[in-house]
Amino acid sequence: MLNAMVDADKRARIAGIGEKVLGGGEVSREDAEFIINIEEGGEIFDLMYWSDRVRRANKGDEIHLCSIVNIKGGGCPEDCKFCAQTAVYGAESQRHGLVDTGVVEAAVHEAEQNGVNALGLVAAWKSLEEGRNLDEVCRHLSAISDSGRVRADGSFGMIGNRRVAQRLWESGCRCYNHNLETSRRFFPRVCTTHSYDDRISTVRHIKEAGIRACCGGIIGMGETRWDRIEMAFELRGLEVDSVPLNILNPIAGTPFEHLAPMKPMEALKTIACFRLILPWPEIIIAGGRSVNLRELQPLVFMAGASALLVGNYLTTPNEPLDYDLRMIEGLGLRVRGM
Ligand code: SF4
Repeated sequence: MLNAMVDADKRARIAGIGEKVLGGGEVSREDAEFIINIEEGGEIFDLMYWSDRVRRANKGDEIHLCSIVNIKGGGCPEDCKFCAQTAVYGAESQRHGLVDTGVVEAAVHEAEQNGVNALGLVAAWKSLEEGRNLDEVCRHLSAISDSGRVRADGSFGMIGNRRVAQRLWESGCRCYNHNLETSRRFFPRVCTTHSYDDRISTVRHIKEAGIRACCGGIIGMGETRWDRIEMAFELRGLEVDSVPLNILNPIAGTPFEHLAPMKPMEALKTIACFRLILPWPEIIIAGGRSVNLRELQPLVFMAGASALLVGNYLTTPNEPLDYDLRMIEGLGLRVRGM
């Protein structure tokens, strides 16, 4: 009897938070700490009822799809402990210099054929400076943008000044990805070669240039639940446009290779918390979803996700595109057009 009353109290509190967000209110830190610490499967489904309603209210029944292509691979001097492309540890990844136009054209063609409306060019290096690399990147972005076939997005590491961001904008870059990765507190356990503030200032330069900021992180790296909601609040403060959420897929040869996979319901609950804390941005489920969520992948939309990264990731394979398209259609959702 007492248990039933406790459950009813918790469910009423979850409903109160959901109603508040639907009514235009904001999740407080106290609310966020309550929902991220929900333990029971039944209560997580209660939470997902509300995250689903918030997604539908703000994003409708359309799902955004984006894909990525590595235009410069491996050999990065940074020491991000989750990443196969760093040169600091022993992980294997394909190393290559900047690709030629044919590789980008093939990626545009593939994205267009598959109904994917945004293609992100990605380069594994510390930062994008003025000079040859910026010229090459801008040449590729302009070619994509001029074709009008897919949106030209980019992820080229840190940006140290407004002029670089402005050049990207002028070349047609309409969305730039640079993740915070985790909370400020946990970040030094993930990377020591640059700071959290470096990452934040890159996002600010991007936004000042008028480029959409795609900024999220990775869960399952040994951070606490508190760290996860702290990252969500940082992202809310930055007013980012899209939030890619990766779930760590431990890669052999990286310092995180022995971390256990996240429990699927814990990952879904975290996505639901992000949707309630961040009602408006696109929430994109990116790397690690098949490994961690397994057969629960369709529930990401109920948890509040409004977008998927499709096609292969930079260093690991993804579900075949057909699988994702069938999943979206089977749920009565639609792929969003350009
Ligand atoms: S900066 Fe990017 S490419 Fe380089 S190690 Fe970190 S995550 Fe990997």
